[in-house]
Amino acid sequence: MDIHTRFAPSPTGRLHLGHAFSALQAHDFARAHGGRFTLRIEDIDGTRSRPEHVAAILTDLDWLGLRWDEPPVFQSQRLPRYQAALDRLRALGLLYPCFCTRADIAASLSAPHGPDGPLYPGTCRSLVAPDLARPHSWRLDMAAAAARTGPLTWHDAHAGTIAADPLAHGDVILARKDAPASYHLAVTVDDAAQGITHVVRGADLFAATHVHRLLQALLGLPTPDYRHHALLTGPDGTRLAKRHGAPTLESLRLVGEDGRALADKLRKGEVPVGFAAIQA
Ligand code: GLU
Repeated sequence: MDIHTRFAPSPTGRLHLGHAFSALQAHDFARAHGGRFTLRIEDIDGTRSRPEHVAAILTDLDWLGLRWDEPPVFQSQRLPRYQAALDRLRALGLLYPCFCTRADIAASLSAPHGPDGPLYPGTCRSLVAPDLARPHSWRLDMAAAAARTGPLTWHDAHAGTIAADPLAHGDVILARKDAPASYHLAVTVDDAAQGITHVVRGADLFAATHVHRLLQALLGLPTPDYRHHALLTGPDGTRLAKRHGAPTLESLRLVGEDGRALADKLRKGEVPVGFAAIQA
């Protein structure tokens, strides 16, 4: 099998140690199997993505000694593909326009919680003659979608065979008011279009895979194998975040740290004092 992995950062900030750890996992898995490694810049969020973050990502990865086999792919240049996928789902009658704001949803106190916060309460699911001239997102009617595919499974190298549970996510957004595709849609379309055989990414995205598996089934796309890896944690045991004061790779680079030496330490599981790697 021709193994193909990817690292898919969103250029909404500088990379930190957790990103380095993740990029190494994806890169080394491909290299260990004579496969290919690709870089995909997930820049569909035009309000938060910045060219200077893209430039820093490329320099940081190079500094770590990572090489990618093809020119980086930019999601902002692939919008027609996401549009085609949306059109297909809309033709199946599985999408509906949603006019709710975050505040509207937060105000709906009865909303139960899913993996990513409150579940959408379905306010706009059955609107008659919605006014598409008003700003709106597009949501997936999850119950109808899951009924259409029937039970699905996917495989994770650490967790084994998993029964997909997309209903736990509720009616997810597939196209946003301010972005033509959501993370769930773009990542599913691109992993298939690029022929990614193994999705190597952090365990924080484990739950999202339930949605991706469903979208693959609806869109007739192949299902890659998944390897959700341990996350680097800060001194308080929670996932590494800015509040831990974790240095960016750029700041380490600029003070003259050796990127390849850092990469080799991370490979051996040696993380800087105060940090740890845990399987979430
Ligand atoms: N772009 C996503 C992020 O930065 C990762 C996407 C993925 O690996 O599936 O968190």
